[in-house]
Amino acid sequence: MQAFETLLDESARAHGHLCPGQVVGVRMAMLGCRLIDLDEPTRRDQIKKLIVYVEMDRCTADAVAHVTGVKLGRRSLKFVDYGIMAATFLNLETGKAYRVISTEDARDLTAIYAPDIVEKGPRQLAAYRRMPDSVLFRVQKVRVDLDECDLPGPTRRKVACSICGQTIRDRREALVDDYPVCRPCSGTCYFRNAREVSWSGINWTPGEASTRIVKPGSASSAHRLSAID
Ligand SMILES: [Zn+2]
Ligand SMILES: [Zn+2]
Repeated sequence: MQAFETLLDESARAHGHLCPGQVVGVRMAMLGCRLIDLDEPTRRDQIKKLIVYVEMDRCTADAVAHVTGVKLGRRSLKFVDYGIMAATFLNLETGKAYRVISTEDARDLTAIYAPDIVEKGPRQLAAYRRMPDSVLFRVQKVRVDLDECDLPGPTRRKVACSICGQTIRDRREALVDDYPVCRPCSGTCYFRNAREVSWSGINWTPGEASTRIVKPGSASSAHRLSAID
């Protein structure tokens, strides 16, 4: 694995800024990978062995994903919305799994590890760089029973919603009176009042931009998606 400072630089660039969450996340990922014996998680031969569960949608999550190379689209990144600053690193080959939790104590100890810095943000940045792993983190050895339908690779199973016909992949359906139902139809999803609508420019395709007639005096109009009327 690359050096901490290199990983932090890259992670901050990908994330958009350097923040205490990047420092914690990079260190969390380095520790997690070390615990499950993956020294180069982004390398081709190791990338398929790693699954990471992140328990928060905060800065730290971006750093963990960046350093480990896990991706939602590859099914190697699992977001579980617990609101806890923790991530679990699972080696699919060995079954080894460790949950690394960022301690609250670390927040209280920043003044001790960076007494030379007064301002809160910079002090956290410096302190989280200096703290030993044992102060910054707690670690739990855990067992993760990963369902076959959650593994990377092709879709294991498809069913049609018995109400709306929507295809549901990988056993994400709910069962209502033993019939498969998609989450929106089951009434247990994150949105409500869904209504199908039309939108202006409904027949636009990416190839169209170059052939579209540009009105005089509006050079950019060919590249602009018109707003909904
Ligand atoms: Zn951030
Ligand atoms: Zn449905």
